[in-house]
Formats: sequence, structure tokens, C-alpha cells
Amino acid sequence: MNDVNRAVLSGLAEIRADLEGLYRDVHQHPELGLQEHRTAQKVSDFLRGFGYEVTDGIGGTGVIGVLRNGDGPTVMSRADMDALPVREQTGLPYASTVTTTDGNDTEQPVMHACGHDVHVTALVGCAQLMAQSQDSWHGTFVALFQPSEENGDGAEAMINDGLTTKAPKPDVVLAQHVLPYPAGYVGTRPGSFLSAADSLRITLHGRGAHGSMPQAAVDPIVLAALIIVRLQTIVSRELAATTPAVLTVGSIHAGNGPNVIPDSAVIELNVRTYDDATRKQVRQAIERIVRTESEASRSPKAPEIEQITSFPPTVNDDEATQRVADAFAAYFTDDAHTIDLQTASEDMSEVPDAFGVPFTYWGIGGIDAKLYAEAAEKGSIAQDIPVNHSPDFAPVIQPTLDTAVSAMTVAALAWLGR
Ligand code: ZN
Ligand code: ZN
Repeated sequence: MNDVNRAVLSGLAEIRADLEGLYRDVHQHPELGLQEHRTAQKVSDFLRGFGYEVTDGIGGTGVIGVLRNGDGPTVMSRADMDALPVREQTGLPYASTVTTTDGNDTEQPVMHACGHDVHVTALVGCAQLMAQSQDSWHGTFVALFQPSEENGDGAEAMINDGLTTKAPKPDVVLAQHVLPYPAGYVGTRPGSFLSAADSLRITLHGRGAHGSMPQAAVDPIVLAALIIVRLQTIVSRELAATTPAVLTVGSIHAGNGPNVIPDSAVIELNVRTYDDATRKQVRQAIERIVRTESEASRSPKAPEIEQITSFPPTVNDDEATQRVADAFAAYFTDDAHTIDLQTASEDMSEVPDAFGVPFTYWGIGGIDAKLYAEAAEKGSIAQDIPVNHSPDFAPVIQPTLDTAVSAMTVAALAWLGR
């Protein structure tokens, strides 16, 4: 461990218990995207207490804290704050029982099922350690707490609200995500890290009629079924075996009873790709299949295709990633790894893109190492280890939090500690 890392992280032992308390508190009080008022208030209060210049309410609930500590590089570290509409089933003593109402006044359960509570706590811890050890580093440290990552509109909301004029321009943006790997694990990856994600809503039109009279109908349910099957051939038959992509139809709605052929059907699907060319190719294939299957079925009206959400691919800067990978190898030794390509998606790259600066994003493990090893032994990791967004997703508090705080701090110091 180099002296700077040792000096800054020596404060961790003293704040560990408070951070664990903060983690349990945030976990127990999850908030959906753009509703993170309590979480944002907490992080603002902490940052002010640590001596940061704080700007809050950016893009709704976004917060930045700036700590200027002499000449040197500017590093921006980002954490996302939002939770998911999932009913927690972990059985943890600090499990969420929170419900909220969505835009349609429907009651929804809320859970930190993606570990953003880990990210928030880790960045608060890192911000505190940086504030307490200003003799050990030089430059400017910016802590950015972003709303609404899950909906893909939080980074955009902050940018549209003038983020690039409210925060100093960074030399690099850093971000991390807790993932289903053993706790203690840290994984970097140059180049492609996360996929692009596009969610589409497709409305298919038919002609309604009595269930006994198909000759009078154009059946949109049969049409939807044919389209769903045919969409499976895009990845399997139109892309090279070496080009990764996923296409999932996650929702289908049509009809109200067994003896009525409805006049429309709605399917919603999600596509994951890793580069812009494949993203475009898959989109064109979807449009072609939906349009021509509708024509083949005598659909009376052209189908409508609507984009619901859109996430860019997350492609790490090679040089920034190498710098962080070297720092992690020196600090975490055997726990530092090269991580596999991930099929999840993120909007974090929109922040560095808005500033025109490089970024690097890495993964940390959150699963009890013994459980993980047992599942690996049985070859049942996919079946036995709850992944992000599962109602059973339950990162172990330690060593997950220590790893997350240390990783963010060591990465920031790879610029500021020189
Ligand atoms: Zn998520
Ligand atoms: Zn997430």
C-alpha cells in the first residue's frame, strides 16, 4: 500500500460503524427515481458537515459537493441514489417495508434492489476521508449524487439543469457498482463494460370480433405471438456468434376475456447491445419484423413503435482504466480482477460526455464469499445467487462497504494523491 492510500484510508476504522448505520438507514428508506428527497437531504447535510461547497436540487434531487484543496487535477466521483419498485424479500432486520404511489396513483413497494444504497454510503465515506486528510493530496474532489439511474433520466436531468456550469470541469469521472460477485472482489475492464439498453413499446392493431368468428377478425394476439417468436431470430440468425446482444420481450397485454378477439395488443421489449452499429442493426430488424408481420396478418393499421427508455453503452477510457487497475492491483492485490462484460446498462457516461472528459467505471462484489464459493462449487451461481433487481438481493454489509469506500478513495487518489 502506498503512503497516500494508507494516510487517507487510516480514517476508515473510525467512521466504519457510522457508515454501516448510514447504509442500514438508506436501505430501509429507499426512494424511486427523482423522488430521492430524503436521501439527497442526508448526503447534502453530510457534505456540508465535511466542509464541501454543496449545490443541491440539480435536476430535481441531484447533489454535488466540491472540496477544493489547492492546485492539481479535478476528480468527480459519482454515486446513484434511486431504488426500484420491488417488494423486498430478503428477511433482513433492516429490510424495506416502504411503499409509494406512482404517477397513476398505484401503490408500489420500494426496495434498494440494485445496491445504490452501497454506492451512496461509499461516496459519503470517501468524501469524509478526503476531507479529513487534506494534507495527503492536492486538487479538487467533486462528489456527485445522481438521481434516477434506473429510469435512465437522472444524469440527463442534472445536465439539463446546468451541471456543467455548476460543477468544476473534471479531468476524469469515476463510478462503481455493486454486482453479484464475492464481497471483497474489485473488477475493472477497459473498453466496453455495460451494454446499451433500449426499451420499446409496440402497439399492434387488429380487428375485434366474437371469439367464435375468426373470419370477421384480425387477431392481434396471434400476430403478437408470431412477432415475439420471430424477434428471437434477430440475435440467433441475423448477428454473428461473436456479436453479443440480448432481446427480451418483457410484457404483453391484450384482451379481456376468453371469447372476445381484441382489436389491439401491446408488447414491450428490451434490447442490449454493445456498440452503435449493432444497436442500429437490431433496431432496424425489429421495425422490419413488426411491420411486415403486421402486413402479413392483414393488420388494418400500421403498428406503432415507441421508445420508452434508452441507455448509451458504457465504454471505459483505456488510459483512465489502466490507472485505476494499477492502483487497485497495488491496494487490493489478489482481490483486484479484470471483470467480464456485463449486460446491465447505465446512464453515468452522460455526465463525463457532457463535460467531454474520460471516465472509468468498475464493479465490486457484494455476495457473502462463502455462499458464493459454495454455489461455484456446485456450478449453481446463476440459480443460487440473487442478482441485482431481485427481491432477494442482499449485499453483505462487510466487507462490501469497506471495499466500496476503499475502491472509490484509491481510484480518486490515483489522480489526486500524486
Ligand atoms: Zn439497477
Ligand atoms: Zn444499479
